Amino acid sequence: MNTEADKQTVLIVDDEPGNVQAVANLLKDECRIQVANNGEKAISIASGTKKPDLILLDVLMPGIDGYEVCKQLKEKSETSTIPIIFVTARDTVSDEEKGFLLGALDYISKPFHPALVRARVRTHLSLKRKTDLLEQISMLDGLTGIPNRRSFDEQIEKESRRTRRGGQSLSVVIMDIDLFKQFNDNYGHGLGDQCLQKVARALENVAERSGDVVARYGGEEFVAVLPATDAEGAAAMAEKFRVSVEALAVPHEYSSVTNVVTLSLGVATVSPGAGNDDDAVTKLLKRADEALYAAKKAGRNRCVVAPAAGGDSNT
Ligand code: GH3
Ligand code: MG
Ligand code: MG
Repeated sequence: MNTEADKQTVLIVDDEPGNVQAVANLLKDECRIQVANNGEKAISIASGTKKPDLILLDVLMPGIDGYEVCKQLKEKSETSTIPIIFVTARDTVSDEEKGFLLGALDYISKPFHPALVRARVRTHLSLKRKTDLLEQISMLDGLTGIPNRRSFDEQIEKESRRTRRGGQSLSVVIMDIDLFKQFNDNYGHGLGDQCLQKVARALENVAERSGDVVARYGGEEFVAVLPATDAEGAAAMAEKFRVSVEALAVPHEYSSVTNVVTLSLGVATVSPGAGNDDDAVTKLLKRADEALYAAKKAGRNRCVVAPAAGGDSNT
């Protein structure tokens, strides 16, 4: 049914050539196949330019095992959304649970039944196609339902143009969850996702002025666009964002900051007419990012306001 060009790609990860061959034969008519015979190679293929639409991942492999591969892929935003199915002889309930906690979508036990493998792969590929399409046409982030990166990029360009023409100051706040890797590693990816959803909702409730936009910037980072807001106003908003997340009181006993989930925030403002060049947005975001870095360095769970842009009065 599908033409060669829109065939989806499945990455088969297994150290046993016989297993790879069996699964590849099963799927090669309907999918493009990629193969990795160890964990390192799997991560490198998945992080490359031709990303798989689905990964069939063996658990027991010499070197880094399938659980570790899954964990590492889920940690990087460029690979975290690739669906993973474990294919393994380890099939106790706790093995399966471990896989799901790490963010796998499904579990196939060996020795596998070819018809079942094909059916499951088809189901997950079809879901993947729909998710991709939705993300493409939608401006909303699939996990949290708030505006996504693409939406943010459009918004900030529009507001920046408006500010360059005159008008009013424009501020951005970049926010990053503190020690979220620790959270995921200890509570599991599922609770990690739930936490991101709660944080998104809290931030959205703070930004209630029309024109304010809070978006998911990627991974565990969020960003707010605050039109017609000067540095002082933006600092006040940032503090509200910070407090709103702390007040969620999502337990994080592995955080070195405090015992709940917290945010670090970087604030930057550009004045009307200032930064009158094509890189204005890039520069503004860079300043906010540097402020965020300073907030992390100063101990996290705090806001830092970037110094006014070179020579421009920023108030
Ligand atoms: P820091 O305070 O310095 O920001 O530390 P950190 O651990 O938050 O930063 P790091 O960049 O090392 O780790 C970010 C982690 O966020 C990695 C990954 O576990 C998690 N993460 C990113 N995107 C998602 C996601 O979509 N879902 C879940 N559950 N976790 C995610
Ligand atoms: Mg981060
Ligand atoms: Mg973080």
